[in-house]
Amino acid sequence: MRNVPTIPLFSAAAANRDIDLAGAMQRVLASNSFILGPEVAQFESEFASYVGTGHCVSVANGTDALELALRTLGVGPGSRVACVANAGFYGSTAIGLVGATPLYVDVDDLSLTMSPQALAQALAERPAAVIVTHLYGQLADVERIAPLCRAAGVPWIEDCAQAHGARRAGRLAGSFADVGCFSFYPTKNLGAVGDGGALVTSNGELAGHVRALRQYGWSKKYEVARQGGRNSRLDELQAAVLREKLRHLDRQNAQRRDLAGRYNQAFAGLPVRLPASVGEDFVAHLYVVRTARREALRAHLLECGVATDVHYPIADHRQPAWHGAQAAQPLPVTQDACDSVLTLPCFPGMADEQAGQVIESFQSFFAQPGTPC
Ligand SMILES: *Cc1c(COP(=O)(O)O)cnc(C)c1O
Repeated sequence: MRNVPTIPLFSAAAANRDIDLAGAMQRVLASNSFILGPEVAQFESEFASYVGTGHCVSVANGTDALELALRTLGVGPGSRVACVANAGFYGSTAIGLVGATPLYVDVDDLSLTMSPQALAQALAERPAAVIVTHLYGQLADVERIAPLCRAAGVPWIEDCAQAHGARRAGRLAGSFADVGCFSFYPTKNLGAVGDGGALVTSNGELAGHVRALRQYGWSKKYEVARQGGRNSRLDELQAAVLREKLRHLDRQNAQRRDLAGRYNQAFAGLPVRLPASVGEDFVAHLYVVRTARREALRAHLLECGVATDVHYPIADHRQPAWHGAQAAQPLPVTQDACDSVLTLPCFPGMADEQAGQVIESFQSFFAQPGTPC
C-alpha cells in the first residue's frame, strides 16, 4: 500500500466545501420554526420550477416518495408494478410497502436502464404502474417509454434519486412521467445533511393527495380525510440546506460530468465497458465501468489507495428476503451487470490530482499483468 490517503467514493466535505450551509441552518434556528414552515414551502416552489413541474411535495426520504407515488396512483394489494431489478431494491421496497408485487423488466445493455423492448412485453401483463430508474444519473429512454405507457394506459413513475438535473432537449428528469420521485440522501447529486425526499408532478390533484398522505391523511388540522396517511415530512433545516445547494446543482453536475468525461477518455481502448453518455442526460451520480475482472481490479485499486464499490451486487429477484424469486423471468443483462459493475470515485470538489491518481491506478492494472501500484 502506498503511503497516500485513500480517495473516497464520495466526500461530503468536498461536495459542501464552498456552500454556506451554516448560514442556512442559522436562519432556521433563528426562526424557531422547524416543521412545514417557510423553508419547506420555498424549497418546494423552487424545486418544482427547477424541474419544470407545477408541483413539488417534500417528504422524509426517497423510499417514502416512491411508496406515496404508488399509493396515490391507486396501486395496492394484488397489483403488479413493472420495475428493474438492478437498482438497489428501493423500488421493490416501495412496491412491497403498498402490498403489490414487482414485475421485473430487464435493462438495456448499453445504458443499464429499463429496456423499452422488455417493457413492451411486460406491459402486456397489465401491471398497475411502472417505475423507471435513471440509474447512476443516466436518464432512461424516456422518449420510447412514455408512449409505451401512454398507449397501454399504465401510469409511470420516474425514480430520479440518482438523476437530479439530468436533462434531454431541455426537459429534466422528473418531468416526463406522471410523478417523479427524488431522494436527498447526503451522497445524492442534491444531498441534504440528513434524510429527505420529494415528489414532483404536473397533476395538482395527485400533489394534493400526497400532501395529505405525508401528514396523517389530514385535509386540515385534525381532520383525517384520506386513508393511508402517515408522518413523512422534510424538516426546515434540511429544506434550508437544500435551497442553498440547489443553486449549485448544475455547476456540481457539470463537475461530475467533466470527471466522467476525463475517465472515459483515459480508459478508451482498455478492455472495460464505459458509461454510454457523458452528455447532459447523464449527471454522473456514480461512475460505473463493467469488467469481467472486477475482484482483481478492485484489489489493485485498493492497493493504490482508490476506494471502489459495487452498485449493486445482488439483483432484486435474487435478494434473500425476496420470496417471489422463482417467479421472476430471466434477466440476463441485469445478471451480467450485477456480476461486472464497478464504481470509481467521482464527486464534486474532487481534486485534479485525485482524478489523476484514479486514472493512473486504473491504467496500471491493464498495462502489465501484476504491475504493482
Ligand atoms: C437512494 C435511492 C433511493 C432511496 O432513497 P432514500 O432517501 O435513501 O430512501 C431510491 N432509489 C434510488 C435509485 C436511489 O439511489
